[in-house]
Amino acid sequence: MTPIEMLDQQSERAAALCDRAIKAWGAEAQMRHSMGELAELIVAIEHWFQGRYTAKDEVREEFGDVMSMLSQIQCMHFTPAEVRQAFTRSLDKLEQKLVGHEAKRGGEG
Ligand SMILES: [Mg+2]
Repeated sequence: MTPIEMLDQQSERAAALCDRAIKAWGAEAQMRHSMGELAELIVAIEHWFQGRYTAKDEVREEFGDVMSMLSQIQCMHFTPAEVRQAFTRSLDKLEQKLVGHEAKRGGEG
């Protein structure tokens, strides 16, 4: 299941919670909070590379926090279709990079 599918499954609940969060704390505070959650994911990934035995749990926890914040950013500023389109473009870019990478490696053999 992709992150987009996860967001789709929780979309009604996420939208309702997003509205409540914006009413409670404001859009700017939630955008700033999203930066904090992204930073926490970066730290958790760094812990993974350091070999901390709790890193997988940390990354999973922060992944969930980031997904929640991505859902809030989406509901504040973008339609689901816009986010889906951006996700598709990102996958297209990854695919293009892989095609180039694999072509180079194929030429090395
Ligand atoms: Mg967190």
